[in-house]
Parts: sequence; structure tokens; C-alpha cells
Amino acid sequence: MRVVADREACIGATLCSSVSAMFELGRDSKVVVVADGHVDPQDLDAAEEAIEMCPVQALMLTEEPR
Ligand code: SF4
Repeated sequence: MRVVADREACIGATLCSSVSAMFELGRDSKVVVVADGHVDPQDLDAAEEAIEMCPVQALMLTEEPR
């Protein structure tokens, strides 16, 4: 699975980065998904939690590859 981010929608609320190291904020204060969005199985729960927490639904889970 991969996480993709809609950086246009992101408002930099940092909730995703507070629950998972998969998410960082870029210099523009918008989300950057590390490792090109690849989600290791052990990180899936945290990824799903981050997706649910995002106030603007900027994160989505997709099948690999892109
Ligand atoms: S939780 Fe959503 S709005 Fe906040 S930084 Fe993450 S992707 Fe952006």
C-alpha cells in the first residue's frame, strides 16, 4: 500500500506527523510523505489513523505501484 497526499489540500495541521513518522512537514509547512509513500505492514495502522485524523482529507491510501 502507498499513502498519497494532496499537498494543495493540506493546511499543515501536523496531525498526521504527530501519529506517524511517515509524515513530515516540508519547508512550505505542507505534508511530505516519506519513502515515496510506501507503507510497511507494521505501519499500516498508524497510516490509517493519520488518514482519519486529517481535517481536510488530504491523505489517501492506494495500492502500489503508482
Ligand atoms: S493532517 Fe492533513 S492537513 Fe494536517 S499536515 Fe497532515 S495532511 Fe496536512
